[in-house]
Amino acid sequence: MSLTLRALASGSSGNATLVSGRDATILVDCGTSARELTARLYACGIDPRSLDAILITHAHVDHYRAAGTMNRRFGIPVHVDPSTARSLAHCGRNSSWRQLRETRPIPGRIGAIEITPIDVPHGEPGRTGRTVAFHFESDRVRAAVVTDLGTVPEAGLSRLRGVDGLILEANYDEETVRRKLADPRFLHDHHYLSWVASDRGHLSNRQCAEAIATIATEATHHVILGHLSTNHPDSARDNNDPRNALETVRGILRRQRVRAPELTIAPRLGALEAPPGPPVTLGSARRSIPLGNPLQRKWERKMPTTRG
Ligand SMILES: [Zn+2]
Ligand SMILES: [Zn+2]
Repeated sequence: MSLTLRALASGSSGNATLVSGRDATILVDCGTSARELTARLYACGIDPRSLDAILITHAHVDHYRAAGTMNRRFGIPVHVDPSTARSLAHCGRNSSWRQLRETRPIPGRIGAIEITPIDVPHGEPGRTGRTVAFHFESDRVRAAVVTDLGTVPEAGLSRLRGVDGLILEANYDEETVRRKLADPRFLHDHHYLSWVASDRGHLSNRQCAEAIATIATEATHHVILGHLSTNHPDSARDNNDPRNALETVRGILRRQRVRAPELTIAPRLGALEAPPGPPVTLGSARRSIPLGNPLQRKWERKMPTTRG
């Protein structure tokens, strides 16, 4: 019995994570272009038409960009909280969201996978609707997708405790953001950076490590660090670095005497194109995977030559 997590893309240029169980495959967020997402699915050997659902975490474009196109082109149902759907009703005229015929509420279960949304603080309340992380459980194997949150609420920490594996945000290095906030050359980014570091922004490497220290038990085998602010076309916009994120998280876990789960970095689209991350299988079929190179430049796109 197992659940498999696979980060197809992660970060402000687009997020998409696959969660697969024995009888269902769910895509959490679809924030890249439809073309990129389709290529990444085929590269993983997945026909988009075989997806059972797309779940949307919140109303930021790096999480819903391709929803309308994927729904119309492949008939994949799109599930989203009604408050998020209401706020997206006013999104741009060119947004693919406008092509959606219908959205469905977040279901409690798809196939054997139980789905629990976890409310997290992120974005502007009242404008962006509800932001959620997702907890999945199938045959007592537990996984979670937790990105885009300023802090991890107590209720979330207790829900996630002892999860077998998860993708957890490690968005920024606190020292880098502090330095930029004090640097007049980044004055035009001041508002954005202040929001990133706020309780409704993103998790820093330190906050990510402290959350892992609370969540991780003997059952927790793997954490994929996600939504890193890195690999921007303009590197001055980077607020993080994969090596720094890994070292910071490992250092804090070591100091707190917490046994570190296997840690990998989710791939981000950007200046250096990273391939989809490897599948992380949790539960009885679990196997260890080597730490991939997060900066790997080339990857094979297994697009079919003909498509209906
Ligand atoms: Zn995001
Ligand atoms: Zn967001």
